[in-house]
Amino acid sequence: MRLSRYLIPTLREAPSDADNVSAKLMQRAGMIRKVAAGIYEWLPLGLRVVRKVERIVREEMDRIGGQEVWLPVIQPKELWEETGRWKVYGKELLRIKDRKAGEFCFAPTAEEVITDLVRREIRSWRQLPAMFYQFGLKFRDEIRPRFGVMRAREFLMKDAYSFHADDSDAGRYYEQVYQAYQKAFTRCGLRFKPVEAQSGAIGGSFSHEFMVLAETGEETVVACASCSYGANLERAECKAPKAPAPEEPAKLEEVHTPNMGSVAEVAQHLGMPPAKFLKTQLYMADGVPLMALVRGDHELNEPKLQRAAGAALLDRATEEQYKGIAGCDVGFAGPVNLPRWKNPQGQMVTVRIIADLALQGLANGVSGANRRDTHLKGINAGRDFQADSFADLRSATPADPCPRCGGPVEFTKGIEVGHTFKLGTKYSKSMNASFLDPQQKSQVMVMGCYGIGVTRVVAAAIEQNHDDNGIKWPVALAPFTVVIVPVEVDDDAVRSAANDLYKQLWERGVETLIDDRPERPGVRFKDADLIGIPLRVVVSTKTLKDGEIEFKRRDGAQPERLKLDVALERLFDWSQPMPAPPVAA
Ligand code: ATP
Ligand code: MG
Repeated sequence: MRLSRYLIPTLREAPSDADNVSAKLMQRAGMIRKVAAGIYEWLPLGLRVVRKVERIVREEMDRIGGQEVWLPVIQPKELWEETGRWKVYGKELLRIKDRKAGEFCFAPTAEEVITDLVRREIRSWRQLPAMFYQFGLKFRDEIRPRFGVMRAREFLMKDAYSFHADDSDAGRYYEQVYQAYQKAFTRCGLRFKPVEAQSGAIGGSFSHEFMVLAETGEETVVACASCSYGANLERAECKAPKAPAPEEPAKLEEVHTPNMGSVAEVAQHLGMPPAKFLKTQLYMADGVPLMALVRGDHELNEPKLQRAAGAALLDRATEEQYKGIAGCDVGFAGPVNLPRWKNPQGQMVTVRIIADLALQGLANGVSGANRRDTHLKGINAGRDFQADSFADLRSATPADPCPRCGGPVEFTKGIEVGHTFKLGTKYSKSMNASFLDPQQKSQVMVMGCYGIGVTRVVAAAIEQNHDDNGIKWPVALAPFTVVIVPVEVDDDAVRSAANDLYKQLWERGVETLIDDRPERPGVRFKDADLIGIPLRVVVSTKTLKDGEIEFKRRDGAQPERLKLDVALERLFDWSQPMPAPPVAA
């Protein structure tokens, strides 16, 4: 491609609303432009990168027997009503009406549509297993679109759905998809970590997130340094600590704590360690009050609490609700003598208490007394209050051992680019996707679904690979692998050497850009760095007189000189992405 004829509108400054590195660099490099909140145009340079990701992912899906399909983005309400998601999906689902007042949504995902297709077209056990995938535009009316294409409203996703005769086959196939994802992200040249996203009660974990590791990532990844354990911080398991040494139970005693609503303040006031405190937080779980307790030196993890409570909706109690439930302000609530609560039916009920595992057997602890400016000390679990259940409620810390092998863990930041999920019969049951088994008995299919945010991968690759000058594309994702900069654009010898090399590289299949714009070399070098082309070749009268060109890798090495007669071979070798890993059995 000749840059003089190619639309790469680079910018010196990023638009002021670009709120992370990749959003800034993608706009500065002329890859994307913003049209509305979370809605972008992909310009030629940006789209080339999308296609690179897409191609790698497609190859890996095909290798595990995936069949590519194209599903509609506009989907009828009726299908979404069958699974109940028309109601529960909420405002992220963009709903639209056609001219006949028919109701539709813009697909945020496609379980309903694919299950509908499969229930109509697949009847026999002989046709299973089957996996279908697509690269489809998705629309999610995100409450806070941000970070450019990373959390957009319109984005490109590879979504895949598999259908199986039984659970064990779904499990076997899940493993294949997991391997295919590993290969795909490895081939993209990214550093990544698959992490457990949900620990199934039986048979281990059946949901994984694939995280691209980058300091700027939104998610915290807990990874074991010795074994393969990795989890999202939301999920990372904490084991119960060793039981504390037994203590003589003390008398329950009130202490005056004027305006001291935090553990730190009261701990200092009483000269006691925060680990002796019961940190109390009130929630409304599906409209019913819930008290969560963690140790004073621990942090409550709301997703864990939500799972432990089995609640569809979990909201922090408002100040008003604190007064209504505990009879006091935030900061003075506690589990001892908790007032009974009047439910909407007018009945007096006790407030449910869930406590973290680390509070089992706590002796002589401190907590709020459900009265302003008052705490209680000498609290003994079991004697002074009764937890309805104990569960893992707290966030892991770097000091926690790996829950699998007991080794030390590391905390890193990551960006979720893929998600694999064993669905079971959630959709096939409600939509009646069944098949006839060898005995001619009707059975419900077992499903899995597997997503990769293709456009998010592009942004994540930049978050992981950039410097002050711009993007540093891994070869496999680079929009072009070589950029040739002829220094003296008007010099015949320079122009012809640059053009020859350009043609020969394309003939060898090396995607090459030639920056033939009448700009100063410095400006063109800056742009080459900004758009992140892995190999830069400079053709100038200075080196040509020695029969040489200058060559520099974007990843920082010093420029080197190359003899013209070997340049083609060397550039060809350097521009090859990493070979595909071996084909799955
Ligand atoms: P998140 O927790 O980031 O909202 P999610 O759980 O909603 O993600 P999935 O429904 O599993 O995401 O979607 C599959 C993949 O699609 C994600 O792993 C991510 O890479 C991508 N994705 C999800 N939401 C967006 C978005 N708003 N913009 C760009 N990509 C997205
Ligand atoms: Mg989401």
